[in-house]
Amino acid sequence: MTRRQSSERQSTGQRGAEQDAQAGQGERHGQDGQGERHGQDGQGERPGHDVIGRAWAELVATARRTAADGLVVGTSGNVSVRVATEDGDLVLVTPSGVPYDRLGAGDAVGVGLDGRQRLGELTPTSELPLHLEIYRATDAAAVVHTHAVHATAVSTLVTELPLIHYMAAALGGPVRVAPYALYGTEELAGNMLGALADRTGCLLQNHGTVTYGNSLDQAYDRTAQLEWMCRLWLAASSVPGREPFLLSRAQLDEVVDKLRGYGQHPAR
Ligand SMILES: [Zn+2]
Repeated sequence: MTRRQSSERQSTGQRGAEQDAQAGQGERHGQDGQGERHGQDGQGERPGHDVIGRAWAELVATARRTAADGLVVGTSGNVSVRVATEDGDLVLVTPSGVPYDRLGAGDAVGVGLDGRQRLGELTPTSELPLHLEIYRATDAAAVVHTHAVHATAVSTLVTELPLIHYMAAALGGPVRVAPYALYGTEELAGNMLGALADRTGCLLQNHGTVTYGNSLDQAYDRTAQLEWMCRLWLAASSVPGREPFLLSRAQLDEVVDKLRGYGQHPAR
């Protein structure tokens, strides 16, 4: 799952303008990130305070979006983003137990890939192992974890989301369910990594969703698509006396191939 991702990855700094244009409502009316958002767009600048501040503002906006869109209730999910620094990768992550609308520019929390806290006073999310495992194993730039209700419901019913829609291809193939383990543990992180092989998203049994991407927007969109697909399957499979038609693996692979070529020069 790392090979394709590596070419997709962009630095957070280069994405500043695009992200600003897409920032969520909550942030626009909030108080945090004001300084960063009026700064330069970061074209070509060295990763520094502005880049970290901007990445944090984007992270807070994304976390608020998961709550506003009903993918999490309260602070039950978490979001992270990777920022390249001179001291190695810094992972900004939502803190444990702080409502997203109270997070401000001064609340940034950052850890190294070894889990050691390098930035901020607040305690990182208890699901930090999930996030770090993905950053260590892939070139992911952002990770979104939620307890979205339809996806979590599906995680209690199957070991893999049935191929109800071709959008599964956007996550790399049929979405697996990682076996249950206690939240916040390395065991859960390991189970998740197994379920993520050649995928950019998975379900966690009796728990929720995990997706990653080359930006916060992409990771968020994958979560929203996954939740939508789970909702679709639940709706279709709950019609009495009927079983939904499913796509074959060959039909899905055809879409995976088509998406792989999307936006690039024809490969064949
Ligand atoms: Zn969780």
